[in-house]
Amino acid sequence: MTRPEIMLRQAGKRVTRQRVLIMDIINQSKGHIAAEEIYSLAKQKSPRMSLSTVYRTLRVLKQEGMVEELDLGNERYHYEIKREDHHHMVCRGCGKVIEFKCPFSKELMGRLAEENNFEITGVSLTLLGYCDDCWRKRAE
Ligand SMILES: [Zn+2]
Ligand SMILES: [Zn+2]
Repeated sequence: MTRPEIMLRQAGKRVTRQRVLIMDIINQSKGHIAAEEIYSLAKQKSPRMSLSTVYRTLRVLKQEGMVEELDLGNERYHYEIKREDHHHMVCRGCGKVIEFKCPFSKELMGRLAEENNFEITGVSLTLLGYCDDCWRKRAE
């Protein structure tokens, strides 16, 4: 995993302690972390950090394309470092997130675009359900 300082510098973005700290926390969480969780971890390292600073920094990092904001269908937005395109399966029991690559082929996307006279610019896909552990627990 590339270090946040280097990612920011390579992208020509501002490198500040706050930005690096927040991106570090997202990295270490393996992604898909909510703003409130980022805040409580950030506070341990930087006691003066406020929740509004976390929100503001996330918003700017998102605008700059460094961080992705995800709606995982569980009312809070989650954040991850922007990487290659992928989608998410979210467990409704424990909140576990599983990543998968886009299942749609270029041909299918092209056909859908044509049929609906629609210019497709991206795919946002979240599948909701239960992971193996939670499914077993429900079946017991
Ligand atoms: Zn689960
Ligand atoms: Zn992801």
